[in-house]
Amino acid sequence: TRHPFIPSATPPTWLGVMGGGQLGRMFVHAAQAMGYKVAVLEPAQDCPAGHAADHLLSADYADQTALAELAAQCVAVTTEFENVPAQSMAFLAERTFVAPSAACVSIAQDRIEEKRFFTECASTSGVLPAPYHVINSAADIDTAPDALFPGILKTARMGYDGKGQVRVKTRQEARDAYAGMKAAVCVLEKMLPLAFEISVLAARGVDGQSVVYPIAENVHRNGILFTTTAPSPHVTPESARKAQDATLTIIEKLGYVGVLCIEFFVLQDGSLAVNEMAPRPHNSGHYTIDACVTSQFAQQARAMAQLPLGDVRQHSPAVMLNILGDIWFKDSSGALHEPAWDKVLGLPGAYLHLYGKDEPRPGRKMGHVTFVAPTLAKAQQSLLAACAILG
Ligand code: ADP
Ligand code: MG
Repeated sequence: TRHPFIPSATPPTWLGVMGGGQLGRMFVHAAQAMGYKVAVLEPAQDCPAGHAADHLLSADYADQTALAELAAQCVAVTTEFENVPAQSMAFLAERTFVAPSAACVSIAQDRIEEKRFFTECASTSGVLPAPYHVINSAADIDTAPDALFPGILKTARMGYDGKGQVRVKTRQEARDAYAGMKAAVCVLEKMLPLAFEISVLAARGVDGQSVVYPIAENVHRNGILFTTTAPSPHVTPESARKAQDATLTIIEKLGYVGVLCIEFFVLQDGSLAVNEMAPRPHNSGHYTIDACVTSQFAQQARAMAQLPLGDVRQHSPAVMLNILGDIWFKDSSGALHEPAWDKVLGLPGAYLHLYGKDEPRPGRKMGHVTFVAPTLAKAQQSLLAACAILG
């Protein structure tokens, strides 16, 4: 019972999203602004997207009754959470239009599949992933090439924000690290000499048309994205074009529909390596909300609704700062104090985005602030001032 092809799903109608986190919340806001109603499927009752959604289905991602209900309600469904079971996306796709597809999501869920795919694309994309070796058991560490050390051992699945990975200088360190990974399937990859990191956000429609956003430059702290600067101040025009072309090649080869973000490393010799992709809007694309004609979330709504893709032009240089739970101050009585949002909002070009999470745990993404300005230097001044205020 394949759902008939819907030419386009213009508002007001229902769009659905798997996952209730901040990405889902910002998707809800963007889709609602266009006149859509949005349903969210998420196990937690209390979640950032649920507070904004027109309808929250609190159910497990694999609950077929809830999935069928979501599909019946929505003309198109997407995901904000890359680890949603691919089978759930396939189940939905039997009943409604789903973008991205289960097949694309399942490649992006598994670092081994992802690296195989990137390697397969390399003859046309011109960009390879870091050299790697698949680790299915401890014996595979013994047969890994010497050239992979020093390296990084990463779990193939479910890793994010630097979780599920260990840096290993030697083979012995890799053996010890693998012993602590509970026999998970892993990849061992060579540690590359990075100059800086960039990401490329793109979108593709069902008609096969693609668009690509400017290059964003990312700084991580403790494995978590700290700032994004767009356009990237360090990338050369040649590398920028190469990364954008590689992204368009990959999105095309995937036959992807929706918003996709690919992370690249720029190495010290100026060459590029492709790291990983997210089958959804990405933290490094949050600047598009305030600095581009079409935000990554509005773009996702357009792609899944089979509408023309929006203009990706960036109208202002921008810097985004992630706001983590670490900066909430606890006084001696244990009471929590909010950071000085009034001061942050007093800075030139500030757009504050808080995700409505009550509990500010360390490392938890609570919000972000984007500074736009006529020049990147001015946006960076606001960023420095914000860092001084927030500590
Ligand atoms: P996550 O899913 O946690 O984002 P990544 O594969 O992106 O995992 O790794 C997190 C960070 O670790 C990267 O942004 C980069 O700073 C660093 N890193 C990962 N792989 C390599 C590598 N092969 N060489 C050098 N640094 C790396
Ligand atoms: Mg990453």
